[in-house]
Amino acid sequence: MFRRTTTTTASASSPDPGGRSALRAATKKNPRNRPCPTCGEPNRLTPKDVAPRYQCDECADAQERGGCYTMYEVLTDILVLVLWVAFCKMFDEAR
Ligand SMILES: [Zn+2]
Repeated sequence: MFRRTTTTTASASSPDPGGRSALRAATKKNPRNRPCPTCGEPNRLTPKDVAPRYQCDECADAQERGGCYTMYEVLTDILVLVLWVAFCKMFDEAR
């Protein structure tokens, strides 16, 4: 007769025992061998995760926070602005 505690069941069925992750557990039939479609990190998802277009936990977190990607966009905008101002000054001095 098998005796299973709730903790072992939870950690066996979920990659994240805290319950934050939406990803499926990796099993022999469903190995974690697919790359994340967002960040391209290998072995982040199982075939069952890829089907409904999941991404890895890190990308999901970043998307929920609106985090790094927006920051990157802001920095790119600032860089373009600085380059544009520098270009205008250079053009003015050349005249
Ligand atoms: Zn990812």
